[in-house]
Amino acid sequence: MSSALQKNRPGAAFPFDNSYVGLPPRFFAAQAPTAVAEPWLIKLNEALAAELGLDVETLRRDGAAIFSGNLVPEGAEPLAMAYAGHQFGGFSPQLGDGRAILLGEVVDRSGKRYDIQLKGTGPTPFSRRGDGRAALGPVLREYIISEAMFALGIPATRALAAVTTGEPVYREKVLPGAVFTRVAASHIRVGTFQYFAARGDTDGVRALADYVIDRHYPALKEAETPYLALFEAVCERQAALIARWLHVGFIHGVMNTDNMTVSGETIDFGPCAFMDAYDPATVFSSIDQHGRYAYANQPAIGRWNLARLGETLLPLIDAEPDGAVDKANAVIKSYGERFQAHWLVGMREKIGIAGKEDGDLDLVQALLTLMQTQGADFTLTFRRLSDLASDNATESEFAAGFREPDACGTWLAQWRERLSRDPQTATATATATERAIAMRRVNPAFIPRNHRVEQAIEAAVENGDFSLFESLLAVLSKPYNDQPGFAAYMQPPKPNERVLATFCGT
Ligand code: AMP
Ligand code: MG
Repeated sequence: MSSALQKNRPGAAFPFDNSYVGLPPRFFAAQAPTAVAEPWLIKLNEALAAELGLDVETLRRDGAAIFSGNLVPEGAEPLAMAYAGHQFGGFSPQLGDGRAILLGEVVDRSGKRYDIQLKGTGPTPFSRRGDGRAALGPVLREYIISEAMFALGIPATRALAAVTTGEPVYREKVLPGAVFTRVAASHIRVGTFQYFAARGDTDGVRALADYVIDRHYPALKEAETPYLALFEAVCERQAALIARWLHVGFIHGVMNTDNMTVSGETIDFGPCAFMDAYDPATVFSSIDQHGRYAYANQPAIGRWNLARLGETLLPLIDAEPDGAVDKANAVIKSYGERFQAHWLVGMREKIGIAGKEDGDLDLVQALLTLMQTQGADFTLTFRRLSDLASDNATESEFAAGFREPDACGTWLAQWRERLSRDPQTATATATATERAIAMRRVNPAFIPRNHRVEQAIEAAVENGDFSLFESLLAVLSKPYNDQPGFAAYMQPPKPNERVLATFCGT
C-alpha cells in the first residue's frame, strides 16, 4: 500500500504539509481563490489556531487577507476536490468543490493531520452555475454550530475563521458576502468514492481507499482484508456519530452522500438545527419537503449512504462479484446493531443508569413517548432529570416541562425503582450526587437553539452587530456547565420566537 503522507515541514503562518495534492491529477483541480474587494476579519479561533501550530500573531495581523483568499499563504497548494453524490436520493456524477478551496494540510501538536479549507472563495471548475460565494448568515451558522458540536464532544469539522468580503452575493435578496475557514480531519466524502466508481475507475477508488486507510485508519494496513475492514470501520464511526446526534437533538438537514465524511466527522452545517420540543418527525430544512432527513430518519439514511459507499468498494473487496456483495451486505447489516448499541449506551447515560437490564430500552422509550405526547423540551427534560437525580430539583419542577405535569408520575416512579437496582446505588453513599454529576456531563444545559442562532445572524447581517454571535459562542463553549448569568439561553423559544425553517443559503 502506497503512502502519500509526508513529514511535517515547518513554515510561515501555516506549517503546511500537503498530501492530497500528491494524489493523481484527476482527483482535483488546481485552483487559487478569487480575490475580494474589502475583506474584514469577523473572528479568528485563536485557541484552535494555536492547537494546530499556526502563527497566531501573523493570523491576527493578516487574517483578513489570508482567510478571504486575497493572500495565499506560503506553502499552500490550493485546489478544489472532485466528488460526486446522491442528493435527496438522486445521483449527480459530478459535484466537487464548487465554492471551496483546500489550501493545504497541517499536522497538529498531537500528530493529527488536518485540512485547512476556505469556503466561499469564488468559482472553481466544479461550480456549475453557482457563483462560488457564501453569504454571511450561513457562514455564521456554520461557525456557531460546528464549534457547539465540538464543545458537546461530538466529532465535527471546526471553525478557524470567518471574514466578510465587502462584496454582495445575490440570492433571493442581496446579502453580504463572507468566507468561512474550515478545519477537518479530511474532506473526503462517501461521494468522493462515488466519483471514481461512477466512472468505472477502479484504480481511482483503490488509490483513494489506500489514502483513506493511511490517513484515517492506519491500523487497518495490517488487516487481512483491508478494504472490507475500511468499510466496516467507516460504518462503525458513522453509527457512533449519528447516535451522538440523536443524543443531543441534532438534525443535520442535508445528509446527502457528498455531505457524509469517511473520517466520521459531522460536515456541512447548512440547514442543520437542534430540536426544541421532542418530536422524532422534526425537519427544519426548507428544501427537505418530504422529511427524508427528519430527526428520527437519520440512522436509516446513514445506512443508505453507507450502502452507496459499500457499492463503490465492491471490486476491491472481492474479485468475485457475488462474494463481494455478500461480504459488503454483512457489514451493512451490522451497521443497524452498531447504531442501536451506541444509541442505547448514550440513552442509559442520559437517564443515569450505569448497569444494563433488558427493560432499559422500554424505560427510555417510555420517556421519549411521554416527551413527545406532552410537548416536552428535549434538552431541558434531560438536564432537569439530572437535577432530580441529586434532589437539586423537585419532581414538580421537572414535571413543569410537560403539558400535563401529572403525566410524568408513573414514569418517574419506574425510573426511581430502576435506579434503586443500579450497581452505582449499591456501592457508594454519595451516589446520588455522583450520578447527577455524570448525567450533567452528557445532558447539556446549552445547545445552539435555533431562535438564538437566527437572532445572532440577523443582528450581524442587518446591523453589522456581532455581539450576539460572540456571546452565543461563549455560552456554547461550555455546554455542560451551569452558567447562571446566561440562564435565558437555556430556554426554548416562546411561541413568537419559534423558527420553523432553516435555509442552506447556497
Ligand atoms: P452543499 O449543498 O453545500 O453540500 O453543496 C452541494 C454542491 O453544490 C457542492 O458541489 C457545492 O460545492 C456546490 N455549491 C453550493 N453552493 C455553491 C455556490 N454558491 N457556487 C458554486 N457551487 C456551489
Ligand atoms: Mg456539501
